[in-house]
Amino acid sequence: MDFRNTDDAVTRRIRAMNDRVNMLRENDLYFYNQPISELRGGARVLVNGREMGMFASYSYLGLIGHPRINAAAKAAVDRYGTGTHGVRTLAGTLKLHTELEETIAEFKHAEAAITYTSGYATNLAVISTLMGRGDYVLSDKLNHASIVDGCLMSGAEFRRFRHNEMDDLEHRLQQVPNGVAKLVVADAIFSMDGDVIDFPRMVELCRKYNAWLMMDEAHSVGVLGKTGRGIEEHFGLWDSIDIKMGTLSKTIPSVGGYVAGKKELVQYLRHASRAYIFSAALPPAQAAAANEAFKVILDEPWRIEKVNANADQFIQGLKKRGFDTLLTTTAIVPVLCGSDERAFAITRECQHHDLFVLPVVSPAVPEGLARLRATVTAAHEPQEIEYAMDVMEKAGKEIGIL
Ligand SMILES: *Cc1c(COP(=O)(O)O)cnc(C)c1O
Repeated sequence: MDFRNTDDAVTRRIRAMNDRVNMLRENDLYFYNQPISELRGGARVLVNGREMGMFASYSYLGLIGHPRINAAAKAAVDRYGTGTHGVRTLAGTLKLHTELEETIAEFKHAEAAITYTSGYATNLAVISTLMGRGDYVLSDKLNHASIVDGCLMSGAEFRRFRHNEMDDLEHRLQQVPNGVAKLVVADAIFSMDGDVIDFPRMVELCRKYNAWLMMDEAHSVGVLGKTGRGIEEHFGLWDSIDIKMGTLSKTIPSVGGYVAGKKELVQYLRHASRAYIFSAALPPAQAAAANEAFKVILDEPWRIEKVNANADQFIQGLKKRGFDTLLTTTAIVPVLCGSDERAFAITRECQHHDLFVLPVVSPAVPEGLARLRATVTAAHEPQEIEYAMDVMEKAGKEIGIL
């Protein structure tokens, strides 16, 4: 462990993390960063030579490997090669980027859209570009790390309201001085708990207090709404979000992030946000894949019904077996374990029974709320979900979770 002799704060920090990881490895409890070597149809993958059921995927509609999307990516490589000429503003914009942004704008019922090379970069760029010193950002306590980082980077006053509690949000809105710019930001579906934001009340409060509203739809596009358009469609409240943010790396099987909204907003971001101006464009294959994926979602609506039916089966089945799944109603299903140790132990049992599922422990979630963060997709078959729940039940009993 003595990779350096100095004993400064940096060395100690690195050493502490290494000790934790090595301890897990030595006890066969480390399951992060495992290499997948093959996709085996819908919801199965080959990991370390073993075929496993995939219960940790964000590909909610099962679109990874979809023939139409693969073909679009291949055609883009044939036509444009693998890279761009640099940043979008200078020589990096391809016709594909413009097409993708038009597709996103239409899909999200917005005037225009702008893309970035990751969802993480999108949140950093957009929040820090729009907000600055003296402004106020009000952020749900369980918002994604990229939102938190964007808020911190902006230099604005950063206020966190209690998770999904609109009374607390209102209270904090009332505390903002008059005439000051305000942004309210939240995940539409929360990435660790799977619950849905109280969108109608949040919209009402933003209107009442004249605040900008930004929604991160990383987990709701393709999952919420009859045609998968997300939280506005789910609640039948169109045109109520100022900044419609999402990623191209989850339901959309590519990489990148976007914001859709008014033309003026998008034009401003195109000329003011540093992650757009100083970072290379999305590669052609990924832009084409994303563009095609939005079309597949509209052409194959059965996928949306199936992911939601699978989520119901999974949540109800786990509850019946005695697990605590918090308030989820979506494809993200937390299976509470309690201590980090229990979460690691049940993961090992699941992995040994060919379930690819991973634990989320502190500090990513509060101490004592360690969990399996399991997901189902449209690619799962009901019997695969039953099998997974049986394995979890048996392991849960052995470990003392049930
Ligand atoms: C995954 C995620 C992001 C980041 O998106 P990437 O495209 O993976 O960088 C942002 N917000 C939420 C809520 C997410 O879950």
